[in-house]
Amino acid sequence: IIEVEPGVICDDLNDELKKYGYFFPPDPGSSSVATIGGMVANNAGGIQAFKYGVTKQYVMYLDVVLVNGEILSVGSDVLKSVSSYNIKDLFIGSEGTLGVISKIGLRIRPLPKFRKLGLFIFDDIRKLENAAKKIRLGGIIPNLLEFMDKMILRAVRDYLGGIFYDFPDGYVLLAEMDGNNQNHVDDNFTRLFDIIIQYNPIFFRIAKNDIERELLIRARKANLPALSRIKPTTCVEDCTITLTNFSDVIKQIEKIPESINASNLEVAIICHMEGNLHPTFLFNENNAEDREDFEKALDYLYKEIIIPAGGSITGEHGIGKIKTPYMKLSHGEKFIEKMNEIKKIFDPNMILNPGIGKGDTRKIDKTSKKRKLKNQENKILELECMRCGFCVASCPSRKIYNIEAYSPRGRLCILNGLVYGDLKPNQLINDILHTCTLCGLCLEKCPSGVPTYEIFEKAREILHFR
Ligand SMILES: Cc1cc2nc3c(=O)[nH]c(=O)nc-3n(C[C@H](O)[C@H](O)[C@H](O)COP(=O)(O)OP(=O)(O)OC[C@H]3O[C@@H](n4cnc5c(N)ncnc54)[C@H](O)[C@@H]3O)c2cc1C
Ligand code: SF4
Ligand code: SF4
Repeated sequence: IIEVEPGVICDDLNDELKKYGYFFPPDPGSSSVATIGGMVANNAGGIQAFKYGVTKQYVMYLDVVLVNGEILSVGSDVLKSVSSYNIKDLFIGSEGTLGVISKIGLRIRPLPKFRKLGLFIFDDIRKLENAAKKIRLGGIIPNLLEFMDKMILRAVRDYLGGIFYDFPDGYVLLAEMDGNNQNHVDDNFTRLFDIIIQYNPIFFRIAKNDIERELLIRARKANLPALSRIKPTTCVEDCTITLTNFSDVIKQIEKIPESINASNLEVAIICHMEGNLHPTFLFNENNAEDREDFEKALDYLYKEIIIPAGGSITGEHGIGKIKTPYMKLSHGEKFIEKMNEIKKIFDPNMILNPGIGKGDTRKIDKTSKKRKLKNQENKILELECMRCGFCVASCPSRKIYNIEAYSPRGRLCILNGLVYGDLKPNQLINDILHTCTLCGLCLEKCPSGVPTYEIFEKAREILHFR
């Protein structure tokens, strides 16, 4: 067991643990920026959840600062205890609505020494579904079992080129076995391979060594950068279903743009094969019609597909504000009232993360849809940032001021408010824009290639002439 503060970054923790031959398994795509506190508050998972589970499985105890300033210690470092209500688990995944986590006791695991990865492409999604079900029924537990749809494969092919040019169109299953004994890993991978091959993939590649593994795994890691080059806005949704109706649900999601008659909207689907889907919508949020189509698409996804299929409206990203409107439909009125009662025990004045539907039943004030650029000259300032946060940690001014507004992402959001007239220029905004050193480190980290420092330079020019 290790003890960490909530602000420790997931990748930094794993770099440190690696020196001792251990690791903390949950690995969200945001692990280079996600904090352990945020991961506990969201109960984050990641691409290895199929075998290693999610953050909850690793949290032994927490200190939580309550709204009145008291510190509550929950959980313990003993492996078995039923001496109280399980209040620790109430805080895990509570999205900051009940208190601020200030200390975390975590279980860690020995780092596996060996792994073997294969990439398989199917022309028929049902064959892939059946292969995945057979793997589960066969008691084989890959550390990684990931799905990518046809659109993602095409985007990755265009983005990465190289060996990926030879990959045929189709649905991808990426599967890996790991362990501490080379022979066991090889044997288990052979069992996995024998199952998958029965379902006639049209193409496969097996990594023969670590270099080939790194190459193949790029097909998965490049999903976000590849997709974010297609349209200005990339919005990754998150929901879970059982594998029983996997293909039907995927087909319905693929058809969303057609079903809601939204010709500018595109959707791609990534899935962790424990049933955690990430339908990813591509559009232009600077365009009012696109935004409306996106909202319709979300309604359709949750109301017409996921909830009727008996799924959950979030598997690992949380409810936030966007999915709060689907809470009642998903859980029913009585359940929501009970959550509200629990919320009020910890936060009677409802001041912690207001508007997040875990416990907050108040109506959300939606931002205006009538967003129109005030001045076409300002087009370069339009938001093409997906708010992933990959640029935040590297920014020198963010490090000094330690406030989101002084980060590249914060500055872009402020500029967006300015060009659409939601904000008015003032001294503080001027300071925030002028404390950017124009070093360009953010651009290096940005998967979408947002020309950040050119934008900030232009913004200063505009402010100067005002
Ligand atoms: C590009 C990208 C990829 C992602 N991929 C995955 C993935 O594969 N799997 C996955 O599970 N998730 C994924 N996520 C979402 C993921 O859950 C978060 O990135 C991460 O766990 C949150 O950590 P954070 O430090 O960024 O928290 P933040 O985003 O800052 O906060 C998340 C929530 O937790 C609350 N919170 C933060 N710290 C505390 C604290 N100390 N006490 C109480 N509440 C707190 C915040 O108020 C907020 O409600 C992804 C996100 C992005 C942007
Ligand atoms: S260009 Fe500005 S915003 Fe980007 S990393 Fe440098 S200081 Fe930060
Ligand atoms: S500018 Fe920053 S937050 Fe925006 S897409 Fe690029 S890396 Fe992500």
